[in-house]
Amino acid sequence: MYKAGEKPNGTIIRKHFNAIKKEQFPFTYDVTKCATDQPFRNLQKSFDKFFDDWKNKRIVSYPQFKKKRDNAGSFYLQSSEIRLSETNKNSKAFEKLIHNQKQKHQYLHLPNLDWIKMAEHIRFNNAKIENACISQKDGRFYVSFSLQITDEEYKRTHPHTHSIDSKRKVGIDVGIKSALMLSDGISIENPKPLKKNLRKIKRLSKQLSKRVHPKTKEERLQGVKKSNNYMKLSVKLAHAQGRVANVRRNFLHKVTTILTTHYGEIAIEDLNVKGMTKNHHLAQAVNDVSFGELHRQIKYKAKTNGIKVLLVDRYFPSSKICSVCGEKKDDLTLRDRTYHCEKCGAVLDRDYNASRNLLGQLVNHKIGTDDPESTPADLTALLSRFSINGIATSKVETGKQQKSHVSGEPACIL
Ligand SMILES: [Zn+2]
Repeated sequence: MYKAGEKPNGTIIRKHFNAIKKEQFPFTYDVTKCATDQPFRNLQKSFDKFFDDWKNKRIVSYPQFKKKRDNAGSFYLQSSEIRLSETNKNSKAFEKLIHNQKQKHQYLHLPNLDWIKMAEHIRFNNAKIENACISQKDGRFYVSFSLQITDEEYKRTHPHTHSIDSKRKVGIDVGIKSALMLSDGISIENPKPLKKNLRKIKRLSKQLSKRVHPKTKEERLQGVKKSNNYMKLSVKLAHAQGRVANVRRNFLHKVTTILTTHYGEIAIEDLNVKGMTKNHHLAQAVNDVSFGELHRQIKYKAKTNGIKVLLVDRYFPSSKICSVCGEKKDDLTLRDRTYHCEKCGAVLDRDYNASRNLLGQLVNHKIGTDDPESTPADLTALLSRFSINGIATSKVETGKQQKSHVSGEPACIL
């Protein structure tokens, strides 16, 4: 259609598909109708974007086919098809199912399948379920629901979003040594999931490459198939890789949620992630905390919670400036973990100094802010939320009161 000068349309393409599916794709009758409906809606969306980009002279990319992958895939359920055990207590199918079983788990009914036990209950009361997506990832199955809840329910399930003090401000330095440094002197440790799991992943991928499978395109065309042993091990590898991703995602979500529901204003460096990953020594450490994802989450959660985010220009030398007197040190290298100011004698942790400078940009676009830190009660509340959620923190000696011009005697030791 596109080559003939027409604008491809998801609905028309679906009609074509429906006309031939009985002969050419009989397996689509094994699954729910919605499973084959949604992809055409997605196709429409990506064509809309393609033509919109074209019209507005943006970079265009023609819609791509989804890659077919082992142990991964997804399909949609419409609200009319979704049956959950707790809302279907009167259904005969449900009663048969829970016979002799405790009602500890919630069950989801899949069309053309059966009642499937879910690992968790839906945690919202009186939720109106719009749709659901079943997906397979890392050798596990997931269902994600899109649901509508009442304001009351939102307040009950998001208590912290209603107690944000807009006066609380923070500068956040994202570093290599600690994942994040707050201008309140709190250092948030990086879980480093990759480093721990890297050996396991390496060993499994090595073993996997030895199992029977097509190693080249030619071999695949010759009919070499992936062996059962290959498929079994590939699930194990996917589990290990999935664990890395899950630990990382869990950490990022917890940290960004706590920060965007505690502070009213956040200053963070607008990092050039692509530029940083080009430096090979930094690459792995940078990828390990997923800077890009951290920024994305802070930005969208700030918007949801109605708080301000200041993205500080990436060329602002936050590490090189003394946050006490404003002196700039041009010869500071990445190895210098401590900032020694030759002018005023301040000795500060490098990342803490940078976070203070970012806070300064937020408060008055000035170097050397004397903005008070959070109150002890605020800090205790914040630290306890980190600790409840299993996030390791440490308090950095700020050394602000101890700064002195006496040489030979560092004002603070880290
Ligand atoms: Zn100084």
